[in-house]
Formats: sequence, C-alpha cells, structure tokens
Amino acid sequence: MKTYAFQAETKELLQLMIHSLYSNREIFLRELLSNASDALEKAKFEGLTHPEYLADYGIKIESDPLKRLLVVEDNGIGMTEEELLANLGTIAHSGTKAFLQALGEKRSELIGQFGVGFYAAFMVAERVRVVTRKPGCPAYAWESDGSGEYTVTLCEKEGHGTRVELFLKTHEDGVDYTESSVVRMLVKKYSDFLAFPIRMGDEVLNVSTALWMRSPVEITHEEYANFYKHLGHDWQDPLKTIHYKAEGTSEFTALVYVPKELPRHFDYRDAKVALSLYVQRVFIKSDCEELLPSYLRFMVGLADSSELQLNVSRETLQDSPHMTRMRKALTSKILSTFKEMLGTDRSQYDLFWAQFGSILKEGMLVDPQNTSKIQDLVLFSIASDPSQRVTLAEYCAKMPAGQKRIYCQTGDSLESAVRSPYLESVRSHGYDVLLMTDRVDAWVAGSLREYGGYEVQACDSKDLDIGSDAEKAISEEKKKVAHERLHGLVSRMSTVLADTIEEVRLTDRLKDSAVCLVGGAMTAHMERILKQSGQDLPQQKRILEMNPEHPVFEKMLHMSEVQVDLWTSILYQQALLREGTIMPDPQKYTQQITQLMVESVAH
Ligand code: ADP
Repeated sequence: MKTYAFQAETKELLQLMIHSLYSNREIFLRELLSNASDALEKAKFEGLTHPEYLADYGIKIESDPLKRLLVVEDNGIGMTEEELLANLGTIAHSGTKAFLQALGEKRSELIGQFGVGFYAAFMVAERVRVVTRKPGCPAYAWESDGSGEYTVTLCEKEGHGTRVELFLKTHEDGVDYTESSVVRMLVKKYSDFLAFPIRMGDEVLNVSTALWMRSPVEITHEEYANFYKHLGHDWQDPLKTIHYKAEGTSEFTALVYVPKELPRHFDYRDAKVALSLYVQRVFIKSDCEELLPSYLRFMVGLADSSELQLNVSRETLQDSPHMTRMRKALTSKILSTFKEMLGTDRSQYDLFWAQFGSILKEGMLVDPQNTSKIQDLVLFSIASDPSQRVTLAEYCAKMPAGQKRIYCQTGDSLESAVRSPYLESVRSHGYDVLLMTDRVDAWVAGSLREYGGYEVQACDSKDLDIGSDAEKAISEEKKKVAHERLHGLVSRMSTVLADTIEEVRLTDRLKDSAVCLVGGAMTAHMERILKQSGQDLPQQKRILEMNPEHPVFEKMLHMSEVQVDLWTSILYQQALLREGTIMPDPQKYTQQITQLMVESVAH
C-alpha cells in the first residue's frame, strides 16, 4: 500500500465539498454516472480493434442500506496505476477548475451548479474506494476519506472497468441514497439520456438509447438540457438546441447546442471545436475540428455519422469526403438556425450576438462560401445610438434618400469611435455609421466591401465619398476658393511636417475639428492592434487633412513663421490624439501648450 497527498487545489476543493451546507448533494450520482459512461465509450472505441476491451457494456448500481454502502460500477476502460494517481489525485475536471476560479466571486451555493466531477462523491460519502482495472493490467484500489491523503493498493478484480464504492455519511437532510426509489428518481432526473443501460438488480433504470437517436418529439426540454450539461460541463441550460438529422447527400445525426455564455476561461484564439464525432453510436473523437469551421468553436455537441467506417482512423478524418460533406451540411444548418433566431426572436439573438458575435464574424474572413450568409447575421452598433445593434440590412433600410454608401468606423471602444472626427461630415448629412470595435473588426472592416448593392466605406478612408454629385461639386468649388486663400499655409505646414506626413491637404470631411489624419497602409486601429501583439511596424505616413472653415487657420494666416511652425506641430499632435495613437513625445507637446498659454495673454 502506498500513501499519497492530494494536490493543494484538490484539498481545497475536498474541504469545500465536505463542509458546505449544500442542499443539492444529489448531483454526485450524475457525476459518477457521467464518468462511467465516458469510460464505457472509450472501451467501446478500443474494442473496435482490441477484443480484450469488448464486454456487454453497462453500468451497475448496488446498495447495502445496513453498511450504508452505494456502489457505481462500469465495465469500461478502467485505469492503470499512473492514471489513477493522475486522475484522482489532481483536479482533471474542467468544470471543477472553473468552479474554483468562480468561488472568489460568488460562494459555495455554486457547487451544485458546476459539474464538479468525481470529488462530488465526498459530499455524501465519508470514505470512497475505487477499484479499477484496465485490460492487460493489474487491478488497483484507491481509497480516501477526503481529508488530505489517499492510498493506492494492488488488488484483485474480475473483468475490466471501475467500481466506485461510497461509504455514505448520515445526513441531516434525511435522504437515504441507498434506497432504490431515491436512486431511480435521480437516474431519471439527471442521467436518463446515457446511452448505456444503468441497472439496479434486474431493473434497467434509464431509457438507455443514445439521446440523439431518439425522435425529437419524444425528448423533453429537460432531457435536452441535461444532456447539454453533461457534454458541456455547464450548469446553465443552453440558449439554443439544434437536433438535426441529415439525409440525402450526407447521412448523419447531430445534436448541437449554443451555450448561454462563453465558458469563463474560453481561450479566444486557441479554443478547439467542442464537438464529438460518433460513428454509428460509437464515440470516436472529442474536439473534432473536422466537424465545424473554427468560427463556430463556441458550439457544443456531437455528430453521429452512419456513413463513415467504424475503423476510420482519427488521423485520416481530414481527408474524408464524408467528413467534408458533413461539415458543410452542419455548418449550413447552424447558420440557418441563427438566421431563423434573428428573424423570430430578436432579444434571444441579441444575447447570442453579445456572447459569440465576435467569433462568428471571423467566418467572413475565412469562409468565402458562407461569407454572404454570415453578412446577413452580423450586428453592428450604430453611431446614432451606440447602445443599439443593427444588421446590415436594417442599416440599409434606414438610409435617408441620397445616401449611396454604407459608412463604418473602427475604433478601440464605442465611445472613441462615435466621437472620432472622421464621422463629423458623414453624420451632418444625416447618415448613420456602423461602429466596429471588436479586435477582429480591424480585419472585417477591410474585407467587407459591399452589401446589398452598396459599397462599404470607412469614414477615415482617404477617398471618403459623401453627398450627391451636386453637393460634391459645390464642395469642390469651396475647396478651390479656400485653397487660394490658404495655399501658402498648406505648403509651410507640409514643410514642417515633411518627416512624418505624406501630404497636407484640405478636406470637407470635418465640421467641428480642425485637423485629422487619414490614409496610410493600414488604419490607426489596425496599427495599434498589431503593435499590441508585438509586431514591429515601420512608421506609417498619413495625410494630414485640414478643415478650411476652421477659424484656427484664419489666425495662422496672420502669424510669424515661427508661430505657424509651433501651431502646426501642436495641430499634428492633436490629430494623433484624436485617431487614438499614442503621442510620440508628450513632453514636447505639453511644453508647446504651456508656451502658447504664456504667449496668449498680452501684458
Ligand atoms: P472529468 O470526468 O471531467 O475528467 P473527474 O474528476 O470526474 O473529471 O474524473 C477525472 C478523471 O478520472 C476522468 O477524466 C477519467 O480519466 C478518470 N475517471 C473517473 N471515473 C472513471 C471511471 N469510472 N472509469 C475510468 N476512468 C475514470
């Protein structure tokens, strides 16, 4: 016999389990049955190629009220000694980790909401013994009272699989988990959907048909929700359930869910597609990236193919034409479900978009075949009311007569985007502007060229085009007149800024502001994102645009050259500030402003 100490995190969790005044202890059975079912699925998969893993798969529950003993036993894959130590000595369960992290925020009523895995056993048991054997390996017994240590002993066991023995506490809440009526009720409540028979004596307690193979009309809301919680390690109901049987070009059944929220520690960039692949009810692979494009990686669920070969190797999935067809059909089905949600339940869709929109949008960049479908699904905030989000179609429908383009503006936040100088003239025409403030929008803005026959234009684009032809003609004329008045100033300013600026020119883009920066190989927003991610970019040369109507230039016309140079430098740095770029030399800027202040009062 060897004695081991639990990992510190595990100890903390166990203490919580044991001491919490927790009213929902019954979920321990759900957790043990889920583990048993996973172990059976793994054995079934191995059994395809290794006959020693074959068995009449099932789960057995035994109880002995006198000994206060409850046993959950499976003939699944079992564990080796190393696996025992790794799995039951440390926290493996992703839900448990999320739970521990959330604890600081909410407290222990959360225990029941999270799936807490194997350790939930210690909520009801004063001692737990696990006897397990993997085919071809010796059997081991793991035992602990949850107080900090556990032992592992070599032992005897018939057949392969795992037997979990719970020596139950006496509870004040008066529920006796050795009573068959209680066990029966709990299996029905939480685990009815498991695909393996759960037996107590001669009785089979669950439906024991894979849930996704049953007809949707027979499945209750609770059954769908329980199955989702089992798959997704989530404690909330899903936002949307899609149960889909594909026939024709591709034959498969999928049961996929949209969660209510992104998992707490969702890895934005590297999260894998959380779908499992089954072939004829046999589990083949979890996190099956071949099943869905990565911009749907927030979905949870599974797909069961009736066409793939059972002996399909996990490695060759990528090249399988069956897989390609399945992925295409499933992607289509999911996107059309989103579209339907958008049309029929806007408040649900808004919740959905707030959680997953920035991921789904990636599809516009990486999936040309579905780009137009995704464009119909995208929501953007609008400048006229940044608390609202609209679709591109809604934006177009509200365009005033005369508006010929869709206008958008990227930025770090709604606030900065809506206040940016680039919107001034566009909005003064009565045109609304789509605000693009997700990281991915820096790329989306560049790739979204056209929608519904309208060209999409960024407000900070160098070639911004607003107004009717007649308006443009008037504005050109005005610019010409202004240029005659200001060309000397423009050329001096160009000389002063020659090192940093490509050109200084007049614009009709601005109404209230004096200057802004446009052009360059990439937008200022994109430049910031790339710099934040550590890229070393060469200095972007932009165009400094000046608003000829602004009184500051009238003043500058009557100044000494030294003063013009000072004001030019200040204006340029203000333009940098307005586009959100960090000023290269704030020291110099503040000195210049102070100098102005001193000069401004004549003694
Ligand atoms: P999770 O099931 O979410 O991974 P648990 O804490 O419930 O987390 O279990 C930890 C690990 O212990 C499992 O991932 C699995 O490898 C192993 N395990 C638990 N129960 C069994 C079982 N009945 N048969 C085989 N392995 C098991």
